[in-house]
Amino acid sequence: MSLADAILSALAGVLPAGGVKALHEPWFAGKEWEYVKECIDTGWVSTAGKYVDRFESMLQDFTGARRAVAVVNGTAALHMAFVLAGVKPGDEVIMPALTFAATANAAAHLNAVPHFVDCEERTLGLDPAKLSAYLDQMAEKRDGGVFNRLTGRRLAAVVPMHTFGHPVDLDPLAALCGRWTLPLVEDSAESLGSWYKGRHTGRFGKVGILSFNGNKTVTCGGGGAILTDDQDLGVLAKHLTTTAKVPHKWEYFHDAVGYNYRMPNLNAALGCAQLEQLPDFLKRKRALAEAYRTAFQTVPGVTFVTEPEACVSNYWLNALLLDSEDLNLRNEVLEMTNAVGIMTRPAWTLMHRLPMYQSCPRMDLAVSESLEKRIINIPSGPRLGRA
Ligand SMILES: *Cc1c(COP(=O)(O)O)cnc(C)c1O
Repeated sequence: MSLADAILSALAGVLPAGGVKALHEPWFAGKEWEYVKECIDTGWVSTAGKYVDRFESMLQDFTGARRAVAVVNGTAALHMAFVLAGVKPGDEVIMPALTFAATANAAAHLNAVPHFVDCEERTLGLDPAKLSAYLDQMAEKRDGGVFNRLTGRRLAAVVPMHTFGHPVDLDPLAALCGRWTLPLVEDSAESLGSWYKGRHTGRFGKVGILSFNGNKTVTCGGGGAILTDDQDLGVLAKHLTTTAKVPHKWEYFHDAVGYNYRMPNLNAALGCAQLEQLPDFLKRKRALAEAYRTAFQTVPGVTFVTEPEACVSNYWLNALLLDSEDLNLRNEVLEMTNAVGIMTRPAWTLMHRLPMYQSCPRMDLAVSESLEKRIINIPSGPRLGRA
């Protein structure tokens, strides 16, 4: 049997028979209809209503963050997180080349410049040791901050991304950011329900973000959140994302250029019903990952990606890693699986290959470039796993 055949047969052995197995389908098995209908029945569908407050407080309880601010999507949350971290036009923002475009887009929306760095294979996320050596060689501390010696631009933030829900190695990364006094901003869009050494992802830096897009672990239809333990920053985030209007019964006075980023009550209602099911979703996703892990143990040439040591991962998107950088093999697997309704896809095209980011500064990206050729994402929705 060829390797592609063996992979297809292992997948088919784990997944329920019949029907299309999507990559990550939303699942509405709770009070979604009840809560959304209540919004419509009472007229509270938009920028005011009890579900936004409830959603934020549920997020705080679940993650342990002192403050969660719900916004319209994860990209808006990232944009705001960069503003809160002090990113200014012309600054550089350090981020992995292996990420979803939103991470780089949010920097570009501020007229800042993404600066791409490499990942480690163990976590699929930013490599703290490689970044440390790179900063030693490239960066310089001066009055007014840390600067890239080659471009002369200020380095404004370090933005790790927890790929497919697997936490990056946060302790050495936070220590590195501390040494350089660089703000750490976590793109934890994919990692709701993922913990690093007992602490929820998104809580290791100044600010972190979550996404509730339709394909994430929990969905609001669309949505995002800003997480912070800094109460003042939380208040500022709320203020700026709600048009910077100074609260008053009838006066419209705004004290800054604000953003209309507040999550509508309708979306928050859906999100509350989804969050009630999060523990069950996580249990099912873990069971599915365990079944994949077992099935692929006996398939040489491919590894099922598991959570890094000392971490609990939400297994948002399950991934296979081919041993070899064989694009023919990868594409054969993608063709064969999609043809039988088992939806699979390769990793995102690396950011420095996208036309708008190809001239951005970057380090050697050898590991990311290898991973790009070897990753295959496989069906991961909670419905596919046993309770
Ligand atoms: C989903 C995601 C986002 C946010 O996406 P939205 O669709 O705007 O909610 C940001 N970064 C990463 C890595 C993501 O996967």
